[in-house]
Amino acid sequence: MSGPMLLPGATGLTGSGQPTTLGVMGGGQLGRMFVQAAQAMGYFTVVLDPDVISPAGLVSHYHVQTDYLDQQGLAQLLQRCAAVTTEFENVPAGALVTLGAARPTAPSADAVAIAQDRIKEKAHLAKSGVPVAPYAVIETAEQLAAVADDLLPGILKTARLGYDGKGQVRCRNRAELAVAWGSLKGVPCVLEKMLPLASECSVIVARGWDGTCVNYRPQLNLHREGILAVTEAYEGNMPLALADQAVVAAKNIADELNYVGVLCVEFFVLQEGSPEHAQLGGLVVNEMAPRPHNSGHYTLDACDVSQFELQVRTLAGLPLTQPRQHSASVMLNLLGDLWVNEATPPWDKVLALPGVHLHLYGKLKANKGRKMGHLTVTAATAMDARRTALAAADILGIAPF
Ligand code: ATP
Ligand code: MG
Repeated sequence: MSGPMLLPGATGLTGSGQPTTLGVMGGGQLGRMFVQAAQAMGYFTVVLDPDVISPAGLVSHYHVQTDYLDQQGLAQLLQRCAAVTTEFENVPAGALVTLGAARPTAPSADAVAIAQDRIKEKAHLAKSGVPVAPYAVIETAEQLAAVADDLLPGILKTARLGYDGKGQVRCRNRAELAVAWGSLKGVPCVLEKMLPLASECSVIVARGWDGTCVNYRPQLNLHREGILAVTEAYEGNMPLALADQAVVAAKNIADELNYVGVLCVEFFVLQEGSPEHAQLGGLVVNEMAPRPHNSGHYTLDACDVSQFELQVRTLAGLPLTQPRQHSASVMLNLLGDLWVNEATPPWDKVLALPGVHLHLYGKLKANKGRKMGHLTVTAATAMDARRTALAAADILGIAPF
């Protein structure tokens, strides 16, 4: 179902006494921040998530606590809400098909299905105008044997259900590749050539039902052990020509998919002087997320419109305006590792620094590598933002960057 113009929630509240309710599939932190943005604009919210306690379920007006494919759960969600979005890409596409037949659903089941499958995703990303990493699809023993030598060393990635570096194995040679595919139980995979990265960045765009597309400037992202650790968002964080190229590519992808909603596209910046740089150019497109992204959390504090407000606006058919970043910013992810022996990290010391914004997601158990919250530093200059972020990292025991 395509998206008719919906009334802003506030109008629904004062006008008819019936608030408009927006739905979200998934109860994680991204759902929580969507719910909070929707509520700030006067909407009621409903979250569908199987967990009794979830970050988004805790703060939503309604929580439908069923599996994603539970027909009764989906019916309850539909009964409550005027439109539905999703907060993670592994929502079964079948659930989005059901929802999309009854209500405006953004992003669409088709777009999410592409992002769920690295093999399909690569074919679409390749149309962006920026190359993808050289790769081979491995679904059979014959394909494994036929892999070209120049793809090694490489990274074997499962086609489906990978995140935060899970479902990925680095392989130096054919012997390791064979072992790696075995360790991934022979599921469909993509072998990607290991590229010499200078850095990584991402671009977040929001595209409306009418095709209007707005964007943030590229964020510079540092990953540690496959998990995003630091995002740096300020002018001059990467070469301007590459930044412009990344924005154009992200918008091309959104247009090509006829995408509605918030979309994040991740890129690699290649080391100058490397053979791969000579072959592919400076920028390679890695993957996309059909939703707001961890690397865009700084927009809550450093921009006049956040990525979550853009998600609300796209879903509700409200106008999209180009967001403006008003502060230089650095974001640090707060992983469960910081809760050493379950002790609370020294928030008082961190919050004594200027321009520090603490976001915690209401998760009750701090496991290693689990995203518990994030911290955004805003400042007048990039140097100040970096300096304060490094001081915060030092207090928390996060390695410098
Ligand atoms: P996400 O949490 O972003 O969904 P993911 O598990 O889907 O992550 P990728 O983004 O494919 O995984 O890879 C995780 C990280 O591994 C990348 O951010 C990058 O640092 C590194 N990486 C992945 N592919 C390559 C490559 N071809 N060459 C070099 N490094 C790579
Ligand atoms: Mg990634």
